[in-house]
Amino acid sequence: MLRIDGNVEKLRRAVRGLRQEGGTVGFVPTMGYLHEGHLSLVRKSVSENQTTVVSIFVNPLQFGPNEDYEAYPRDLEKDCMLLEKEGVDLVYCPKPEDLYHPDHSTYVVEEGVSRDLCGASRPGHFRGVCTVVLKLFHLVEPDRAYFGEKDYQQLQVIRRMVRDLNVPVEIRGCPIVREQDGLALSSRNVYLSPPERASALALSRSLKKAKALYDSGERDAAKIAGCVREELKGDPSLYVEYVEVKDASELSALKTIERPAVLALAVRVGKTRLIDNVILGEGNP
Ligand code: AMP
Repeated sequence: MLRIDGNVEKLRRAVRGLRQEGGTVGFVPTMGYLHEGHLSLVRKSVSENQTTVVSIFVNPLQFGPNEDYEAYPRDLEKDCMLLEKEGVDLVYCPKPEDLYHPDHSTYVVEEGVSRDLCGASRPGHFRGVCTVVLKLFHLVEPDRAYFGEKDYQQLQVIRRMVRDLNVPVEIRGCPIVREQDGLALSSRNVYLSPPERASALALSRSLKKAKALYDSGERDAAKIAGCVREELKGDPSLYVEYVEVKDASELSALKTIERPAVLALAVRVGKTRLIDNVILGEGNP
């Protein structure tokens, strides 16, 4: 496995070299501190492409001023070991100064699907995500790129950006990987104390209840969201940022679920912000 730290030109040259060996290039952008969720994306890419490129970059542009950019967990050496084992061909680990000029002033802003949910509670977040992902797409020129449904809104924002800006890449969504007890894997789970970890189980539990309600025939979005809120309330270490039911591809408001929907939530467990979601209907459109 090739590892490139830094220089974007080195990355371009290395990808072009690999591409000459033929076949397609799959790309998995991450912020590192890898877990089985990330590795599920990597495995899918390795199985579908001759070449797989992974990036590890904690992107300062997508963090707000009072968020956890500095504290975000990092373990580059372990990450690279894991990727090597999975058969990744190239890992790119830039520093912020490798990707952003000191006077960087160009941004990618998606103004539809990024508005609500995390877009409302984290202003500037998706601008940061879109900007870095488009830059990485230009550098790697992948045929396919892999994103987790764990960050459901991010997946839809990237799909929209790629469609609107005619980026020649196929976006592949991958299902949420969970712990056995239901907690969605996240690099941020390391922040949780044991009692917070126990409280955090309410997220997946509430989504399971909502899904059961939907499966029993309930189609009223407010009732389903209400059932989730009910499950989350009462634990003082949980602060609900949002619980919303949206159209699964447009992320527009829904009163009655007559087409595939996503029930998405963001909850702070102590100081840790966690997100999770479940699809109600026929799955990711
Ligand atoms: P991150 O390092 O958090 O930016 O995540 C990198 C990619 O891994 C994103 O596309 C995430 O959606 C995906 N990912 C993170 N956690 C999970 C999970 N539990 N299941 C599936 N994909 C995930």
